[in-house]
Amino acid sequence: MGPWCPENISDDASAGGIWLENGQVYDVDGAFIENMATFYNDSTWLMYDGNGDIYTTETEDDCANAANPNVGAEYENFCVECLPSYVADLTQTYLIPITPVKQTTPISFGGVGGPPGQSTGPSQRGLAFNGVVFDAPAPTDAILGAYTLAPFDDAGGHVNLNAGYHYHAATGVSTQITQDDDHAAMIGYAIDGHGLYAQLDVNGNEPTDLDDCRGHTDETRGYHYHVDAPGNNNFIDCIYGAYVN
Ligand SMILES: [Zn+2]
Ligand SMILES: [Zn+2]
Repeated sequence: MGPWCPENISDDASAGGIWLENGQVYDVDGAFIENMATFYNDSTWLMYDGNGDIYTTETEDDCANAANPNVGAEYENFCVECLPSYVADLTQTYLIPITPVKQTTPISFGGVGGPPGQSTGPSQRGLAFNGVVFDAPAPTDAILGAYTLAPFDDAGGHVNLNAGYHYHAATGVSTQITQDDDHAAMIGYAIDGHGLYAQLDVNGNEPTDLDDCRGHTDETRGYHYHVDAPGNNNFIDCIYGAYVN
């Protein structure tokens, strides 16, 4: 896990994580932090001091405060970095059908990213093979609106105190199971038990017959999903299978 926030605007990409904007994945290197006022066309962004040192949350309290949606001005222009050690005692249990049951109508996701007024389904999208959850889209508008940046590491994950370490993008870092045909690699399971596969096949193509949930069926795998591009802060758009409530 990590890194997330670079320390100085002279740092290269190995010192920081990534940020997702307009469908693109950007390295959060020192230059990205230095350029934020231009990138967002807003001169309020100034996340470093006269030495180029980047303002970064340093403690668990900082992490909790900066992640508060009502974050005060004192955390404006902070790179928010919550460390795995802050949630060392957290345990998460997920119940996923061993035998997925496809239904006739899809279920909308609840929570952040779900359509307004239809927050009946689960909010979590699925699990990687390492047990890390593929979570709802990160609330990047709220994060940026508070003039904070909460980067993801190169695997697309970061930590919050309630959820622990979780993914917002599938960047190909977590375990992938290569398929014998040219089909995209399997990256985990959706919360309804159907397989989750990478966006692109070995030739770099996305399937053209995906349904509204980003799923389709083939003879080898049955019904399964292909996750969204990492820059879209998204995995799949709904589930077609029954889930454990
Ligand atoms: Zn998050
Ligand atoms: Zn497929």
